[in-house]
Amino acid sequence: MLDFSEMNRILAIREEDFQADVEPGLVYQDLNEKLKHTGLFFPPDPGARATLGGMIANNASGTRTIYYGSTKDYVLKLSVALANGEIIEMGTRASKTSSGYDLIRLFVGSEGTLGVVVGATVRLAGLPAEYSAAIANFPSIAKAGRAVFEIIRGGLNPAALELLGPECVELMNREASLELDILPTIFMEFHGSTTSQLAEILQMAEDICGEQGCRSFQPGLGRAERDRIFQARHDLGEMIVRNHPDEHIKVMDTAVPISAYSEVIDAIDQEIDGTNLKTYYISHAGNGNIHLNILCQKGDRKLWGQIEEIVDRLVGKTLELGGTATGEHGIGLGKRKYMVDEHGSSLQWMRQIKSVFDPNGILNPGKIFPS
Ligand SMILES: Cc1cc2nc3c(=O)[nH]c(=O)nc-3n(C[C@H](O)[C@H](O)[C@H](O)COP(=O)(O)OP(=O)(O)OC[C@H]3O[C@@H](n4cnc5c(N)ncnc54)[C@H](O)[C@@H]3O)c2cc1C
Repeated sequence: MLDFSEMNRILAIREEDFQADVEPGLVYQDLNEKLKHTGLFFPPDPGARATLGGMIANNASGTRTIYYGSTKDYVLKLSVALANGEIIEMGTRASKTSSGYDLIRLFVGSEGTLGVVVGATVRLAGLPAEYSAAIANFPSIAKAGRAVFEIIRGGLNPAALELLGPECVELMNREASLELDILPTIFMEFHGSTTSQLAEILQMAEDICGEQGCRSFQPGLGRAERDRIFQARHDLGEMIVRNHPDEHIKVMDTAVPISAYSEVIDAIDQEIDGTNLKTYYISHAGNGNIHLNILCQKGDRKLWGQIEEIVDRLVGKTLELGGTATGEHGIGLGKRKYMVDEHGSSLQWMRQIKSVFDPNGILNPGKIFPS
């Protein structure tokens, strides 16, 4: 067990290069708090109080990934302690490179199975000059999903495009004192350089949502309202856990190409409609990433087995559509069973890479690879 809580310093902020050197135990919200006065920020936002080390290990992402990318897009250099005790440096502070194998991309998302991140240089982004946010609600998830696709297809380039089921909206209203209509809801945000440019984009978004039968479209949310709603959105996972102390929660994390998003929604409907299952539909929709949360009374092993089968079928469908079993949470132990189907013959090369870096299997043993 490694504890990074005291390796949580920001070693340097180089504003002119848009870079920071950080230790792995630093929490990303604390980094952003420190950066506030510089006009810069570290965009990946998984919501929970995640550390830079954990985010790098998982290639974490979040609500703004559709616009800003995920953690892998922000790591320039890494210091990694290998299983043999050697510490190696990789990457460059230059904004581009064609030099050698890209070990950064290998280590980011490797879930601590290849080495231990002990330091990183991360790229920062400038805070947007202007932003606008809107809420749209729809008669069904399917209609909302179609609007998501059309917004992306229309090239509107949202900075966030989140879709929530009505049960999530109801919970957020209750827990965060919001007063949203209890319907399938899209939260969207756009970043840009002028308010007139953003007003035009919002109008296009409203038109698209209207064509998909949007019940109401509320544009022009102020900063305070926007922050309140996105904070509630970030807290949603924890709200669900808190409100269901007697239930286990199966969280799906599939992601598909955006053209297949509606098809996955249909597949979910087919699996869930007509059952008594309690679900929460949460989606980083702009990335085709769906967290279907399915609840199961603790101790009901039979139902848990049925839920596992449902999720297995949905993951199977996702893979058929060219997607992935995990958009952001990683494989860990629970999703190892999907590795063969998702990666086929390249899985054996992953095993070989693992054995080069960790021949004795001491780093996060059992993670990622099915036995
Ligand atoms: C309510 C909730 C919401 C979430 N939402 C999102 C989301 O929207 N997007 C998202 O991407 N994730 C999400 N997550 C998952 C998780 O928060 C992130 O993936 C995050 O990156 C984990 O960071 P952590 O500091 O908690 O890491 P930990 O949980 O401590 O570790 C995660 C993994 O990284 C490894 N690791 C940690 N530090 C290092 C290191 N220094 N070197 C090598 N390996 C290391 C650990 O061994 C472990 O395998 C959510 C989690 C919760 C509880």
